[in-house]
Amino acid sequence: MNIVFLGPPGAGKGTYADILSNMLKLPVIATGDLFRAEIERGTELGKKVEHYVKTGELVPDDIVIKLIENIIDSEEAKGGVIFDGFPRTVAQAKKLDELLAQRGKGIDIVIELSVPDDVIVRRLSSRRICPKCGRIYNLISNPPKDDEKCDFDGEKLIQRDDDKPETIRKRLKVYYERSAPLVSYYKSGKASKYLIIDTSQSVEDGYKNMIAALKGLGFELRTR
Ligand code: AMP
Repeated sequence: MNIVFLGPPGAGKGTYADILSNMLKLPVIATGDLFRAEIERGTELGKKVEHYVKTGELVPDDIVIKLIENIIDSEEAKGGVIFDGFPRTVAQAKKLDELLAQRGKGIDIVIELSVPDDVIVRRLSSRRICPKCGRIYNLISNPPKDDEKCDFDGEKLIQRDDDKPETIRKRLKVYYERSAPLVSYYKSGKASKYLIIDTSQSVEDGYKNMIAALKGLGFELRTR
């Protein structure tokens, strides 16, 4: 099964993709995480994409598609994947459809996360991540137990460069210009089931909404 998460930065794609990944035992492919890891390691790819990622611009489609092509053919992705942050343009979505169709597969579910802009700006400014394990916290709605340290490995949490207010506004602009057209692209697609989940409240509420919507599609899911 292949699932795509859509929605603006800060809507909770990473958080909800992780929850669903645990429930469905499917790997998450988060292109943003993959790019940040390449930048961190100083690889050729990392050097190519660093400027885009740090300034909130989109990495060019050809680079993203090459990365995805390698991943969907990997052993890990054989049973399907949950895409977080990909596709981000209609060109990427069309290419993904083509790559999956060539392999006798397709997108089964598209989950759009919906949140107003003012909530996004507030949420992203207080988002922190663990540089070691990648767990995501929010100083307001989901704070770590001890100061600004990861609950699991005690690592000091950090703020992503692109979670600074100026870059957040830029990322939102890029989302509305380049990624929002994906909503009508997928809504008009016949193959996939389309869900809209309101994630403007707590993760607990958003989680309940997502489970109810998936159950409505006939999925048997264990609740937490
Ligand atoms: P994210 O962690 O999903 O917010 O992504 C962080 C940054 O990585 C984005 O602002 C883009 O610069 C880049 N990025 C991630 N996924 C894509 C994609 N599918 N297409 C283009 N750029 C991407």
